[in-house]
Amino acid sequence: MQDWPDASTFFGWMFAVTFVGIACWEAWRPSRAAVAPMTLRWVGNISLFGMALLMIWLVPLLSSLGAAKLAAEHGWGLFHLIALPPVLALAASFVLLDFFAYWTHRLMHKIPLLWRLHALHHSDNDLDVTTTIRHHPAEALAQASFDATLALLFGFPPQAVLIYGGVVLVVQTFHHGNVILPASLKALSHWLITPDIHRLHHSRLYAENNSNFGNLIPLWDRLFGTLRKEPEGTFQAGLPEFTGADFQRLDRLLTQPIKVVVTN
Ligand SMILES: [Zn+2]
Ligand SMILES: [Zn+2]
Repeated sequence: MQDWPDASTFFGWMFAVTFVGIACWEAWRPSRAAVAPMTLRWVGNISLFGMALLMIWLVPLLSSLGAAKLAAEHGWGLFHLIALPPVLALAASFVLLDFFAYWTHRLMHKIPLLWRLHALHHSDNDLDVTTTIRHHPAEALAQASFDATLALLFGFPPQAVLIYGGVVLVVQTFHHGNVILPASLKALSHWLITPDIHRLHHSRLYAENNSNFGNLIPLWDRLFGTLRKEPEGTFQAGLPEFTGADFQRLDRLLTQPIKVVVTN
């Protein structure tokens, strides 16, 4: 872990391999038939990812990792003040990062302005591997600001931030997949956010998309009463105000925040 570029490259490849693997799994045995034109959706979702990457490249310090490195250099934040043994600091940071990811996601749904930005992730009329990377650039900026602030306050070790970010990206790519889990893997949902759990978070029904906020493990949803396992009826992804295929065009995606209906 001494060599940062190597660790980042490793997780970059892990993400790429998982993305292609899940895309092949979806093509081979999809869980649901497509509702919206796939090419239009994929071009939009992948373009949004390109914009988010460009933004991270332009402002590298506005990220959890950039802020954690800054905190480590200057000895800022709780973990640098209490000087825990490195292994304990790493484990505690990993748990706290997932805890805060759960709560920032809940805030994204609760605060009207944040919901306007996060709603783009939910307005995808189909749910598949590309939904993982479908976030408005302004939401990516807001999320990066939250993450950087927490990294500065807590002084998370950069290693913890890098490993957590890499693992979460791989798990998120998996749990957005339009795939049917084999019976032998169903038990995974007890301790990992799987496609069976996360798809309900993308439901068109308010009660269902206000559940299952977890990123990595279902523990926080279980503890705070937001875990839901079964849909009320037939599952439908998306938001009621953005059902037409036209809403998936890139220009419409970028201007979507001003058209979101705030009901939360
Ligand atoms: Zn959400
Ligand atoms: Zn999602």
